[in-house]
Amino acid sequence: MNFTFPRFILQTSTTLRNHGYILFSPPHRKNYSAITLSSSTKSGEETLLVVGGGAAGTYGAIRAKTVAPHLKVIVIEKGKPLSKVKISGGGRCNVTNGHCADNMILAGNYPRGKKELQGSFFNMHSPMDTMSWFTDRGVELKTEDDGRVFPVSNSSSTVIDCLMSEAKKRGVLLQTGKTVTSASIAGGKFLVKIEKRTVDYMEYVEADYLLIASGSSQQGYHLATQLGHSIVTPVPSLFTFKIDDLQLAELSGVSFPKVRAKLKLENVQKNIPELTQVGPMLVTHWGFSGPVILRLSAWGARHLSDSYYKGTLLVDFVPDLHIEYVKKVLIQHKNQFVKQKIINSFPSEFSLVKRFWRYIIGREDIGDLLWASVSNNVLISIAFQLKNCSFIVKGKGQFKDEFVTAGGVPLSEISLNTMQSRIQPHLFFAGEVLNIDGITGGFNFQNAWSGGYIAGTTIGNLAMAANLDEAAL
Ligand SMILES: Cc1cc2nc3c(=O)[nH]c(=O)nc-3n(C[C@H](O)[C@H](O)[C@H](O)COP(=O)(O)OP(=O)(O)OC[C@H]3O[C@@H](n4cnc5c(N)ncnc54)[C@H](O)[C@@H]3O)c2cc1C
Repeated sequence: MNFTFPRFILQTSTTLRNHGYILFSPPHRKNYSAITLSSSTKSGEETLLVVGGGAAGTYGAIRAKTVAPHLKVIVIEKGKPLSKVKISGGGRCNVTNGHCADNMILAGNYPRGKKELQGSFFNMHSPMDTMSWFTDRGVELKTEDDGRVFPVSNSSSTVIDCLMSEAKKRGVLLQTGKTVTSASIAGGKFLVKIEKRTVDYMEYVEADYLLIASGSSQQGYHLATQLGHSIVTPVPSLFTFKIDDLQLAELSGVSFPKVRAKLKLENVQKNIPELTQVGPMLVTHWGFSGPVILRLSAWGARHLSDSYYKGTLLVDFVPDLHIEYVKKVLIQHKNQFVKQKIINSFPSEFSLVKRFWRYIIGREDIGDLLWASVSNNVLISIAFQLKNCSFIVKGKGQFKDEFVTAGGVPLSEISLNTMQSRIQPHLFFAGEVLNIDGITGGFNFQNAWSGGYIAGTTIGNLAMAANLDEAAL
């Protein structure tokens, strides 16, 4: 899909310059054809090339073109633009989070970026700014009880349509089905190689500014290293846990509104507060899922990867009740229901479902007992099961609703005030390609919007300044 449809010209020459584009057809690949965009760059006109038409790239491109309307902005997208926006939030797109007015608290939702994002980053473009941006352009938004912000339409298409129409209105050029495969510096500009997967096609584009917003794609990391950056090894974040327990699988579908879960990993000796989380948890047919588990997977992403996704999960199923109170309630229940089977009768104070109570009793192997015959030691043991139930994590589950990559370009190598590289002037990064990732709740898109906006603003301002300099000559 194109925002603007340029006339295509088939080139057969070996090397050819065309106002900002270098067309190249290598002699050893005779059947290669190079195609150029016909929209010629006027003398002195600068070009921004954006790698990736995802959330960060599209938002950044729109912002750059808004600040500097004369700037030529080209987005190269290898697949479909905004494809992750499309599938995000179960097709509803959790655009941002509306419960974090304080930027310090907001930054605390990013396992990678927690410290660095406390600075200017969200001051320059906050979740409120994101919401205004979309509502100003006709996208009605709603904030759910847990802070997640969705379009009122409950459809990610609304968000996509808004971004696409704004990009078109501003004159952003989008080229899809093309992959940026390499980048270098030549004559003070970026020389970017673009290829098509399906046909013998290659072109070189010269650009004054390069914004890499390639998400978690390997090619994006490759481009960053070609331009002098290092990469923090990418590992998955936001996944579910596979649990080694056949009986647990029978509880598939049972949910707990509030548990406290602690993840213990052999390779982590120190106490990491974030490896204990409180919130809803869900039993799946392979283990555990739900917000608590996803948060643990995010905070423990790197340690989990190092330990091959093996560890122990300690779950407190009654986090608001003290262990002594739990014991007392069990003793009272025993005294009151002496003639009932323990499997059929349990204290309502624990707000547990019957299936789960039976599971706990099964772990104690006392299902047939009457309450009268339950010893105090067994009661204490049940209390411990409820307060500190241990599960063996044997792997990482596949979770389709949300998934991000931890790792990427280290934040020490860019300025978060501008999103410009500290290594290569006029090189910018935004979104998931950076070593930033958030927990679930709209934080990952917010990173993309904020980063894209800041990069676009900086690029637009630089282009405006260059334009003024040009005019003064
Ligand atoms: C299933 C799912 C659901 C999600 N739901 C949510 C949600 O509801 N809320 C939330 O906050 N986050 C969600 N996320 C996370 C969120 O989608 C990402 O954090 C966000 O999309 C990152 O934006 P980005 O622009 O940095 O990268 P991307 O959206 O991944 O965009 C990068 C783009 O660059 C293109 N590209 C890569 N390399 C090249 C190249 N060399 N040449 C040309 N093009 C290239 C890719 O094709 C892609 O379109 C979800 C993720 C998944 C997988």
